[in-house]
Amino acid sequence: MRTVYVNGQYLPETEATVSIFDRGFLMADGVYEVTSVLDGKLIDFDGHAVRLERSLNELDMRAACTKEELLDIHRELVRVNEITEGLIYLQITRGSDGDRDFIFPDPETTKPTIVMFTQNKPGLADSPAAKKGAKIISIEDIRWGRRDIKTVQLLYPSMGKMMAKAAGADDAWLIEDGHVTEGTSNNAYFVKNGKIVTRPLSTDILHGITRKAVLRMAEEAQMEVEERLFTIDEAKEADEAFTTSASAFVMPVVEIDGVVLGDGTPGPIATRLREIYLDESLKAAI
Ligand code: PMP
Repeated sequence: MRTVYVNGQYLPETEATVSIFDRGFLMADGVYEVTSVLDGKLIDFDGHAVRLERSLNELDMRAACTKEELLDIHRELVRVNEITEGLIYLQITRGSDGDRDFIFPDPETTKPTIVMFTQNKPGLADSPAAKKGAKIISIEDIRWGRRDIKTVQLLYPSMGKMMAKAAGADDAWLIEDGHVTEGTSNNAYFVKNGKIVTRPLSTDILHGITRKAVLRMAEEAQMEVEERLFTIDEAKEADEAFTTSASAFVMPVVEIDGVVLGDGTPGPIATRLREIYLDESLKAAI
């Protein structure tokens, strides 16, 4: 049984509880982060901690603890749950003031709720899915307008994954005003004539921690990167495509809306970036 963390305590997962009045439960009034663990160490902890602070600030929420405390809790959960490869999920909500009200409770009297747990994922780095590449479908992006804040409003992304599953695909890319925003739980890229194209940062997409690292590594490896809006048709005509996220690193895409990219196997740039990312991230893991 897992040991999880809730509001200052380490508990067996069956004993950890949160109030039914918690605003995370009633209103999706909460933010989260997912940090991967490789070799028992945290990948890009700092990036996740910085984005968490930004998400909290954007929603006028208080931090539940300091960055140093967060790091200690992450490490303790990895240790007690004996995680070599896996994920750490962290969620902070605006807490519970013992009732339901749209108005934010006074942060002086209502403390945020913090919950963390591990997910054991042996084989996360050497993933069979990454060797095969993902098939994706495109669907309309009908999420709210502040996708740069990592909130727990994941109903539409979840529905998108179900639409993909029903269509025999692995994931969905979201389209707004004719342009791809991002994947349901990842940032989206295509490669044409050696150039990597991805949407620029704005409030329309999540500022992926993996995106930032991968774009830096691509430039260090002398790869050409262009940040601009792009259509799904451009991606379908691409030589290759891929997504990035903390839980799947660099994931090659081999099919979009039934159109096979290249020879239908992971492309050389996505494959190389996955190798570089895993290699460099492991070296910098803490
Ligand atoms: N976009 C969305 C909508 C996501 O949910 C995620 C993963 N949480 C990402 C992008 C990728 O972000 P990261 O690399 O920080 O995991």
